[in-house]
Amino acid sequence: MLRGMMMNEPLLVTSILRHAALYHADTEIVSRTTEGPIHRYTYAEAWVRAQKLANALAALGMQPGDRVGTLAWNGFRHLECYYGIGGSGMVCHTINPRLFPEQIAYIINHAEDRLLFTDLTFIPLLEGIAQELAGLKGIVVMTDSANMPRSSLPNLLCYEDLLAEQPDAFDWPLLDENTACGMCYTSGTTGNPKGVLYSHRSSILHAMAACMPDVFGLSASDVVLPVVPMFHVNAWGVPYAAPMAGAKLVFPGAKLDGASLYELFEAEKVTNSAGVPTVWLALLNWMDATGKRLTTMRRIAIGGSACPPVMIQRFKETGVEVLHAWGMTETSPLGLANTPKGKHRDLDADGTLALASKQGRPICGVQFRVVDADGRDVPRDGASFGRLLVRGPTVCSGYFGVADSPAHQAVPGWFETGDVVTMDADGYVQIVDRTKDVIKSGGEWISSIDLENIAVGHPAVQEAAAVAVPDEKWGERPVLVVVPKPGASLTRDDLLAVFQGKVAKWCIPDDVRFVEALPHTATGKLLKSRIREMVTGAPAA
Ligand code: AMP
Repeated sequence: MLRGMMMNEPLLVTSILRHAALYHADTEIVSRTTEGPIHRYTYAEAWVRAQKLANALAALGMQPGDRVGTLAWNGFRHLECYYGIGGSGMVCHTINPRLFPEQIAYIINHAEDRLLFTDLTFIPLLEGIAQELAGLKGIVVMTDSANMPRSSLPNLLCYEDLLAEQPDAFDWPLLDENTACGMCYTSGTTGNPKGVLYSHRSSILHAMAACMPDVFGLSASDVVLPVVPMFHVNAWGVPYAAPMAGAKLVFPGAKLDGASLYELFEAEKVTNSAGVPTVWLALLNWMDATGKRLTTMRRIAIGGSACPPVMIQRFKETGVEVLHAWGMTETSPLGLANTPKGKHRDLDADGTLALASKQGRPICGVQFRVVDADGRDVPRDGASFGRLLVRGPTVCSGYFGVADSPAHQAVPGWFETGDVVTMDADGYVQIVDRTKDVIKSGGEWISSIDLENIAVGHPAVQEAAAVAVPDEKWGERPVLVVVPKPGASLTRDDLLAVFQGKVAKWCIPDDVRFVEALPHTATGKLLKSRIREMVTGAPAA
């Protein structure tokens, strides 16, 4: 073997912010703060403050490898944590505040967080679980001294006071690129959450992939607003990808309603955004009601749950391109992204929409297989379906503190996603369902996602879920649970009529239940186990 003769420079996340500070020094980072006002500064200033934070962590006695938790919205201080903590050789452990308090306490203790950074919003939440957080050395409130809360929490520190005392420069350690820099627990609906540990190397490779033209397509002339939270899978890598490209960053803080997002999109001339379908539904409805249009937005990445075709269509009508993407906490998250190829240029409108509604094609570096129950690859014909397996340098090899994870290693060396999919000859993958959500009727599989996409295409439907109910003859049958749009009148038969001709007769739901709201997981996905319970009256198995 002849070794290459290139410099063995480790891939470290600090190199991203250093690059942005050197060559995009005056590019802005704009944040809607928890305290209220809009905060603006530049990559040059963020870089200095990340170093001040690293000095503060050292002064507090934190050691390489220590886990440092964050309970925070998307904002400039959270960005400083990503780089200051990770760059110091510690692990920035982002925690989802939407989880149940007892799950949050479990996660903090399981990760053995030594320090926790929190936004003001979450002080009451932390007060409620304070008894269970004995392992924490301190809690840093991400605010200035004027806004420090009165609280019964012990060892409360003020972020701005901590930074104020520190020098501007930090001697960043030259780490091995496989050192962990970030951590996020999966918010599975069953069992305890499990921790995924991202490395410097995986984060850099993922950010490079995220910038590519057929993924987020970021450049130094873009303005990026991640709606997807920094507490969930690193906001899909945007806090690394945007400074890598030199794009301006805009953080929405805690205000994620249609009106507040629209205001920031327009005021800051945002060109790219990313988030789960629920957020975009709220924005689209608000824009419809007020007659507003997005004037600078170019591309919105939508994933986390299936993006209904009607959403792609509605954005298209306002001049915005939707990038449907697929990922998991365990895959950093980006794995599939959907843009057309040159040969799709001549597709008609229906064909274009059908293609865009798929979850996308593999991002180079992430390998995929679709296998049957015996682990044999199924044909790549866009029709045969099977279990989606994945591997690559941005895919997790195990969970933190879990001896082995056999459920995810059914096929050795491959991570079992839990998704059932088809793949076509061009590599476009379509998610049929989560393995546990697919409806099995008379030995055939019905995709709950297909049924939901059709239901939300009805103009009077706000949100819809399709779930299986036990059936003596067929095993399971589909039932729709629907939230009508406010003020709309909608009957069962009206709704079922839209399925005619769109799916085989036996796939049409047997019944429709109307409800005022549907339950969601902490990451905004439909909580299918709870919806099944609502329909059958029986607790989830
Ligand atoms: P999480 O790790 O909580 O982000 O959840 C990952 C799961 O979300 C995947 O395994 C999929 O089931 C689902 N998911 C993510 N993106 C999509 C998408 N675009 N369409 C359908 N399901 C998706």
